[in-house]
Amino acid sequence: MSEARQQQWDALLIKLRGEIAGLDEIERRRLGEQLGRIEDVQARMQRLWDGADGARHCRLCLGRCCHLGHNHMGLPNLLAYLLNDEKPPRPDFSLSCPFQGPRGCAIEASRRPFACVIFICEPIEAALDAPDLAAFYALERELRALYLDFDSRYRGAGLCGILIRGARAGLRPLLEPPDQSSETASGKDAGATEPFEVK
Ligand code: SF4
Repeated sequence: MSEARQQQWDALLIKLRGEIAGLDEIERRRLGEQLGRIEDVQARMQRLWDGADGARHCRLCLGRCCHLGHNHMGLPNLLAYLLNDEKPPRPDFSLSCPFQGPRGCAIEASRRPFACVIFICEPIEAALDAPDLAAFYALERELRALYLDFDSRYRGAGLCGILIRGARAGLRPLLEPPDQSSETASGKDAGATEPFEVK
């Protein structure tokens, strides 16, 4: 099972790199700007999390919420590496989340999956004062809108992770607009998994 997923992942990287190479300058710039906005919001959420001593809380519980995770990485998160010619972290599909390493998450906070970024556990929520908590949830709304916008633009995006979307796309390009009748967040497969709700 994990070997099949690894092969699927490797094929996905080859496909996406090929599609990126074929993008024209305008689309490449637009994509870069959109990803930059996502990274900016996620970095601001991370600063709030840092301010609440998030790392200490994670160490205390050994990142149990990540043990419940699976492959949430979505198209925007992967593209943040590939568009900059960077290597994404190597997943280990024998783990419940393929990106959880011995020292925590292998993905930098500004590029982590949406479901991971918006989750704060009770101790961290309690450590945020009222203005910071309000700021966190305002940023969450902003981030959700950015991801949903991404979802409406590209077939490979979506509320479920890139492996699922990649399999559904088959041979069709991932960086093309989805078929509105069946492939968007509001379409019929939006409820297939709920990574925006559950970590
Ligand atoms: S991607 Fe990172 S933060 Fe998200 S579940 Fe996996 S290890 Fe945890």
